[in-house]
Amino acid sequence: MARNTAETLTALEEYLAKSQPSIKIITPSSPEFEGVRACFVKRDDAVPIAIVRPQTAADVQALVKYCVENDVDFVVRSGGHDCAGRSQVRGALTIDLRDINYVRVSEGEKTASVGGGIIFRDLTKELDARGLVTPVGTVASVGYVGWATLGGYGPFSSSHGLGVDQIVGAKVVNAKGELIDAGDELLKGIRGGGGIFGVIAELTIKIYPLKEMLVSLLIFDSSDLKTAWTNYSNGYEKLAAEQPLPRALQLQLFGIELPNLGKVFAVGTTWTAADHEEGKKWINKIAALGPCLMNNPEPRSVSAYCAFNETLLTYGSYGRAYTLNVKKYTPELAEVLAKYTSSIPGGGIALSLHMLRAPEASEHSVFGSRVEHHMLELVSTTPVKDLEVKGAEWAAALTGEIREADSENVMESSYVSLLDNDDSDFTKIYGAHYNTLVALKKKYDPDNVFKYAVPRLSV
Ligand SMILES: Cc1cc2nc3c(=O)[nH]c(=O)nc-3n(C[C@H](O)[C@H](O)[C@H](O)COP(=O)(O)OP(=O)(O)OC[C@H]3O[C@@H](n4cnc5c(N)ncnc54)[C@H](O)[C@@H]3O)c2cc1C
Repeated sequence: MARNTAETLTALEEYLAKSQPSIKIITPSSPEFEGVRACFVKRDDAVPIAIVRPQTAADVQALVKYCVENDVDFVVRSGGHDCAGRSQVRGALTIDLRDINYVRVSEGEKTASVGGGIIFRDLTKELDARGLVTPVGTVASVGYVGWATLGGYGPFSSSHGLGVDQIVGAKVVNAKGELIDAGDELLKGIRGGGGIFGVIAELTIKIYPLKEMLVSLLIFDSSDLKTAWTNYSNGYEKLAAEQPLPRALQLQLFGIELPNLGKVFAVGTTWTAADHEEGKKWINKIAALGPCLMNNPEPRSVSAYCAFNETLLTYGSYGRAYTLNVKKYTPELAEVLAKYTSSIPGGGIALSLHMLRAPEASEHSVFGSRVEHHMLELVSTTPVKDLEVKGAEWAAALTGEIREADSENVMESSYVSLLDNDDSDFTKIYGAHYNTLVALKKKYDPDNVFKYAVPRLSV
């Protein structure tokens, strides 16, 4: 709970009306308030004192200066997809960056500068229109900066690297309200440390030529889930040992409940290179790893891919995500995942495995997991409030069982975006980079002005 009071709000409204009329303020009495405050994870009690929407980096500077000088507790949000609802803080002022959402493609089309509040939907549409792409995650409403600066897995992870690997520049509003161009040292911290050093008003990111990706959701015969998961895991490991898989091929595994089909094992395949005939061959090889009931490879723009995935989820769900990283698909892992696919509590709760192959070198970012791995994502979020507790119990039992049955396969590092404050061990998440992260935090935000940012480091 933030320290702000009713007087804090009155004084802020007066200040904005008099000195910063371009900054929009939305208070709880406004009919817009609930719609604007909505985030992917619902936190009914985390009602901010107000929401402000800066239009420019200068507006952000004015807000940070005002908050520091007047002891106003604030939190920053863009897409609002923090998986534990951490960008919602009761009584804090929310600085909502979503109006700062420009995309400026550089001459030569190698990089683009994007506003700190841009979400995948706007970014991918703008780039698609020019035959360009940049790595993004899967769902259109996710904020780019939150995704990219804390890691950033997605269909391009193996072909072009994670989100953190795309960042080549950043403009940051620091704890003094200054707008600074991040140098190498701060950029390293932002690549994995997110917004803990300041508000990121702009990122410059790498972009690549590509018109369309190839997408196919493979649904495997799941009448016996243990056989389905085990056949695939064994087959995949054998295939990968026999020949290097092309980097354009990305596979996201699911244990999911689908309408009319029930609980199934499925694999989301994406191919992010121009040669779609080659892509089809590889997708068909993956489909051959078990009796596959559905495989329809289709070209799709990145914006259409993200927009479609968004339709499968409910923005405004209870619960949170959980995660752990594993090195390989093992028979032990397959058995546990099959068991927990069959016990999915319903309400859209699901499990998924993202992969990182061909990881980039580690020295340019503080991101911790720089070896090949699979990131298990437990989507224990659901619009059905009554399933919130069941979803959490299901996730705890699942992770507990993997740790017991397949302990050698579980990695120390895990994905900070999918954890909450009380289950984040930052020394393990950041590994060899933990001390660098702490030193940078002490240097760039010694008074912890950005105390509500993720990760919540206490230095
Ligand atoms: C439905 C869903 C799908 C997801 N899919 C993927 C996926 O495919 N791959 C993956 O790797 N992750 C995925 N995630 C995780 C997601 O990437 C992270 O939760 C990410 O941090 C969300 O960013 P956001 O801007 O939407 O969230 P917010 O809640 O707005 O912000 C998250 C954090 O970033 C900070 N932040 C955001 N913008 C700024 C800024 N401009 N300056 C400073 N700080 C800022 C916030 O303060 C907060 O700490 C998904 C999450 C959900 C809920």
